[in-house]
Amino acid sequence: MDPLHIRTPLLRSGPLSGFSGTSIWLKMEALQPSGSFKIRGIGLACSERIRQGARSLVSSSGGNAGIAVAYSGDQLGVPVTVVVPATTTDTARERISSHGAEVIVEGSSWNEAHEHALALAGDGAAYIHPFDDPLIWRGHSTLIDEIAASGLEPDVIVASVGGAGLLCGILEGLHRNSWEHIPVIAVETQGADSLHQAVESGRLVELAAITSIATSLGSKRVCARALRWTSEHEIHSVVVTDASAVDSCLRFVTDHGVLVEPACGASLSTVYEPLDLLKENRDVLIVVCGGVGVTLEQLETWRDTL
Ligand SMILES: *Cc1c(COP(=O)(O)O)cnc(C)c1O
Repeated sequence: MDPLHIRTPLLRSGPLSGFSGTSIWLKMEALQPSGSFKIRGIGLACSERIRQGARSLVSSSGGNAGIAVAYSGDQLGVPVTVVVPATTTDTARERISSHGAEVIVEGSSWNEAHEHALALAGDGAAYIHPFDDPLIWRGHSTLIDEIAASGLEPDVIVASVGGAGLLCGILEGLHRNSWEHIPVIAVETQGADSLHQAVESGRLVELAAITSIATSLGSKRVCARALRWTSEHEIHSVVVTDASAVDSCLRFVTDHGVLVEPACGASLSTVYEPLDLLKENRDVLIVVCGGVGVTLEQLETWRDTL
């Protein structure tokens, strides 16, 4: 069966390269049919579960994972229920229901929505985890295969981290393509820095609360596989402010005409507010992970209030 994701453009950014003095390459996951990279892993996981006999799909999500499950269910012709925390924006909720899925609001954080979704699963309804599943990582890893096939070998890869499914997929893809030597810069926002705290303390840490506005990065704990990867691969954990993530989204709209969430702005901010780590590199690849749970107005309000 054909995958549910598309092969996204890989662009050398004129504005960002000019600004930073290095070649900045953009893997445009914002252009996926679900608006973010999530459809890669989630599309694969949904297809596999249906192939194995599931008759419906259940998801819990801060937005983009739910949208990806809703999109997948629509494409595969099965019903979908998505449980979201109250923090999920109206835009994201509408986007989920626009694919014909049922939206249930439960709890104030992803963890609570997750518990409720788990209770709904079983009896032919397959629960699709937003990040902690080897099938999800395998699906996400296809983005590295596409970069390898393009002929570009980046010196470093920058990607945002929530529950770290994307990070695990990137690492799986790097190792499969014999790119073990390419370092990864893993970016989180303050108040959603569950990987950073885990790396600092050498064990999985559960954050007391998510205080960042980058709700798509708002997993209180990263998957265990991600922490193990930090001792098997060169991974630099970086934490940026919400304000610089938002500012980077606004600058990116001006530079590329593409609207992304602060979760993605966090990665872009390593160029707009240049990170020393990036300076010695010639070809920097940014995973423009996307996200549709935001409007231009919302970004401007955050800019004025943060
Ligand atoms: C889900 C998401 C992330 C984080 O991905 P994880 O696999 O949870 O680490 C980053 N950016 C966007 C836009 C997302 O939707």
